[in-house]
Amino acid sequence: MTSPVWHPYAHLLTQPVAPKVVGGEGPRFTLESGETLLDATCSWWCMIHGYSHPRLVNAIKAQADVLCHVMLGGLTHEPADRLARELVRITPAGLNHVFFSDSGSVGMEVAMKMAVQYHHLRGKPEKHRLLSLMKAYHGDTSGCMAVCDPEEGMHSLFSGYLPRHHFAPAPRAAYDAAPDEVARDLAALRNVLERHHLDIAALLMEPLLQAAGGLNMTSPLYLKGARELCDEYDVLLVFDEVATGFGRTGKLFAADHAGVTPDIMVLSKGLTGGYLGHAATLATDRVHDAFNGDTAQHAFMHGPTFMGNPLACRVALESLAVFEEENYLEKIADLNRVLCEELLDVRTLRHHPQVVDVRVLGATAVIEVTDAAHLGGVAAFAHRRGVWLRPFGRWLYTMPAYITPEADMRLITRTMKAWFLK
Ligand SMILES: *Cc1c(COP(=O)(O)O)cnc(C)c1O
Repeated sequence: MTSPVWHPYAHLLTQPVAPKVVGGEGPRFTLESGETLLDATCSWWCMIHGYSHPRLVNAIKAQADVLCHVMLGGLTHEPADRLARELVRITPAGLNHVFFSDSGSVGMEVAMKMAVQYHHLRGKPEKHRLLSLMKAYHGDTSGCMAVCDPEEGMHSLFSGYLPRHHFAPAPRAAYDAAPDEVARDLAALRNVLERHHLDIAALLMEPLLQAAGGLNMTSPLYLKGARELCDEYDVLLVFDEVATGFGRTGKLFAADHAGVTPDIMVLSKGLTGGYLGHAATLATDRVHDAFNGDTAQHAFMHGPTFMGNPLACRVALESLAVFEEENYLEKIADLNRVLCEELLDVRTLRHHPQVVDVRVLGATAVIEVTDAAHLGGVAAFAHRRGVWLRPFGRWLYTMPAYITPEADMRLITRTMKAWFLK
């Protein structure tokens, strides 16, 4: 009998039968058949400590004995208070206020509402549109779909249903590009701001790494330049660090590569080490203080039922403690060395006729091909080698758990290479 479970992003006619996962440990999960698969994606980039991490599991159990849930409306509790303080401590200086929600998409919805209301409260209600980048991905809810790449992105069929925002070209300069190359990207951004800043509330971006839009990487100078342009045009800068946060780009946050503080920053995925769904939208004093006032319009009208869930906050605190105590940034640097060595030095791969580009940043690597059809069958090919790879579009990538041992990291990269060099 087929299952009533409706799978995400799936073509119902062609989807393979989904294998049943019964458990997992470290970088591998186990299937009903007893087979284990090494997860090259750490479950959509969130299981940064791998599966069944004892400290994370125990944190959830301990919190479950005390308090599983209570509303955050008019009440507070220790895990939410402590996590908010910790997030203020570790994020770029100036982000002093934390609004919790339950997923990355909702965290971005909160960021966008905050930005529009901020300008409204300052007497600029006409600033109610957003500026996003081509190749962006910010989530699957309506508000988020409207700021995803409108052409190549996955939501183009909904264009008639969505509000219209502005888009600037995706940055093209690489991570280590020369300043004059970055200047071209910034000129394109300035061009849109110049024409439309009067109705733009915020510029949204996935800093350094546009993830689901094709693992497009750019320069820290682009973030610095964007910060200056936003200040010049009275536009808030929103960093969507849902994917990049918690070490993925090699520093704790992508913003740290540039020493930039955005006005609003969104965290999710790695926040709880993937063990429970949660998100945080952080804001600076400037944004927060605009909401100090006595009219009805000064309240921020948002409140997901499960915001600040004690189990999620407690496991997020434990995740962060493990990250710091076990020096994960060093582990990420080690993974990065292996990724560079295995994927960038192979001339044969970069010169392969199907390969457009190979990019590595932090604990992220991607092989971009000329046509999505070239990746047909790669998941089954990897499965036979004991690896869970899940390419999308023209991108075959890995974002491993940070605890992945070196030999397993090489098993992942060698499987990726073997597909092309077979
Ligand atoms: C995954 C992702 C989101 C959406 O998060 P969900 O928890 O799936 O709603 C938003 N922005 C970025 C950059 C993401 O990678």
